[in-house]
Amino acid sequence: MKADPATQLRLLSVQAIDSSLDRLAARRRNLPELAEIDKLSAQLAALNDDLVRVSTELRDRGRSQQKLDDEVDLVRARAARDQKRLDSGQITSSRELENLQAEIASLARRQNTLEDETLALMEVIEGLQTRAGAIRADQERLEAELAVAGGRRDTALAEIDDEAGARRGEREATIPTLPADLVALYERLRSSSAGVGAARLVRRRCEGCHLELSGADVRDVAAAAPDEVVRCEECRRILVRTAESGL
Ligand SMILES: [Zn+2]
Repeated sequence: MKADPATQLRLLSVQAIDSSLDRLAARRRNLPELAEIDKLSAQLAALNDDLVRVSTELRDRGRSQQKLDDEVDLVRARAARDQKRLDSGQITSSRELENLQAEIASLARRQNTLEDETLALMEVIEGLQTRAGAIRADQERLEAELAVAGGRRDTALAEIDDEAGARRGEREATIPTLPADLVALYERLRSSSAGVGAARLVRRRCEGCHLELSGADVRDVAAAAPDEVVRCEECRRILVRTAESGL
């Protein structure tokens, strides 16, 4: 394949553009903000699960509290009714009086027990409410951090995209100045050789595979006509001769 030396050098600039486009694409994929956003989103999801659990328990405890309140009301009503009967003076049987007094005492004990249970339950509910408040505060903090990270990600992506757009513009301007068969060979080599299809020969070393050419290969390359497209014998990439090739 033939291509004059200036064309071969332009192919090297296309390679430089493509390598920088590859680096930009890798930077886009590996933005630290993306990992941070994933981490924050996972933490938020875990907090949301916590909040669902705490809210469910709060609802359950709230129902228990309601039941206790209802039972306290019943006990109080019954004690009041008993007391009223006792105070009415209509009960004359001492046995019946004793029973009624015993029941009033028993109801008072029951009421105390229920009130103790209510207090203990209220403490549990307060603890759960405090926990729910802390979770919501953590959620707000993480959501704010997520928004900041999202903003930084968008800024970084916009910068990368701007730069990639500029590189693509340069590429589109250069490609039409190259022979189609050279471009086709370059593209084929680039896709099979880790993104590098054309490499400079610098001080007898191929910059594609970084191997030094053998003496015989150096002689062959030096003897080739300037417009001959030479290939590295080691990696088969297009080898472009420059002033620093050491030939
Ligand atoms: Zn090579």
